[in-house]
Amino acid sequence: MMLYQSTRGGMQPVPFKDAVITGLAPDGGLLIPVDIPDVSDRLLDLRNLSFVDLAKEIVGLYATDIEPEILSTLIEEAYANFDTDDVVKIRTLGDLKVLELFHGPTLAFKDVALQLLGRLFQHVLTERGEHLNILGATSGDTGSAAIAGVRGLKDVDIFILYPNGRVSPLQELQMTTVEDTNVHCLAVEGSFDDCQTLMKTIFGDLDFKKSYSLGAVNSVNWARVLAQIVYYAYASLRASDQASFCVPTGNFGNVFAGYVAKRMGLPIKHLILATNENDILSEFFRTGVYQRGEVHYTISPAMDIQVASNFERYLYYHLDGDSSALKTFMNDFMSTGRASVSVLPSADTFLSTAVNTRDTLAGIREVYEQYGYLADPHTAVGLVAAQRFSEASNGVDLFCIATAHPAKFPESVDQVAGEGVARHPSLERLKNLPARKVVIPADVEVIKEQIRTNGR
Ligand SMILES: *Cc1c(COP(=O)(O)O)cnc(C)c1O
Repeated sequence: MMLYQSTRGGMQPVPFKDAVITGLAPDGGLLIPVDIPDVSDRLLDLRNLSFVDLAKEIVGLYATDIEPEILSTLIEEAYANFDTDDVVKIRTLGDLKVLELFHGPTLAFKDVALQLLGRLFQHVLTERGEHLNILGATSGDTGSAAIAGVRGLKDVDIFILYPNGRVSPLQELQMTTVEDTNVHCLAVEGSFDDCQTLMKTIFGDLDFKKSYSLGAVNSVNWARVLAQIVYYAYASLRASDQASFCVPTGNFGNVFAGYVAKRMGLPIKHLILATNENDILSEFFRTGVYQRGEVHYTISPAMDIQVASNFERYLYYHLDGDSSALKTFMNDFMSTGRASVSVLPSADTFLSTAVNTRDTLAGIREVYEQYGYLADPHTAVGLVAAQRFSEASNGVDLFCIATAHPAKFPESVDQVAGEGVARHPSLERLKNLPARKVVIPADVEVIKEQIRTNGR
């Protein structure tokens, strides 16, 4: 049976189902599998599988405490409402390939993981006769994908905090037009930081957390990483020899899944980590120094992150599983905003670069003029980064990960392509639907009262 342990070494390993429900390890670390399965002798068999069949194989290696038939059903249901033949789509732009991951219900790559996570939650909760009240804070993309993942589930209520008037109108509609009664959109009179602080305060009230079974769907849940491994496997198995991936990065969740895929023996050469002006991660891979800076607000808001919540998982492997060295690093970082490793991460796996706003807009324009392809600003960060390395000319298939549909970010895409070009019917439809939200002051007690009254 596959077991999960904490990066900080302070907990008894637990099976997959507990890892999914727990989210964060009780010692403050992140959960990782005790060992990573090796599929290098099965590549030929895996090569011809559809996305869903490949997901059954890969997820099955890690979720060994769920019956294979049940797991198959959950996976089939999770990917039934993606709007392309095989869940993801590969396009070719000259030397580059684009791996589009935005064909799910909210048009962002987070759907690939959250559609499955919601169903895993429901399965485990039913089995245990339990209920979960999910509390999250969002400045955009995560909220709508999380809501889409759990809407209509019997044993889950979801409460999403967001800054009233400060998320893009489309992203707000993606949350507030959902009709299911287990979805509660709380528009807070305050900033995104206020929302995050409120959320942390409520999670810090352990009595309340326990009485109301509060849970989270944030990017540190192992099941999210797991679901994301599948598309690295899928694309790399379709490469002529080896694949490299260029990944626009914020919380290090997506690119970390690529790292696990490589460790599983899939034919992956490099992972090119692309950040916007928030370059803490690209600097780490260049210099070995992890140093927090001011948050820059950019046109790729889902990557405006200074402290990457999944980074600790990578650090664990970089430090060869030395939990005490890891704790020292994290404590240094927490107290001083800076920490470093003595051995630089090997450039055999990670390459990195940061792309500023001007270059990102130029990149959107260039691929649009050259190929008629419209990239959203997050995807464009990756496309520009990819051009700085010579993977494609070295006989490696280079896949740029496309994380969102361009119609989600008309504010920047319209500057390049003109108004009305970046549209998607599912977003247009929302503009005529009734919206439902509760505007509340930035007050812990008001949020708790919402959970007491509307949760279960
Ligand atoms: C969340 C998100 C990202 C960043 O992904 P991480 O896993 O946090 O690195 C990039 N692009 C879009 C559109 C996103 O929603």
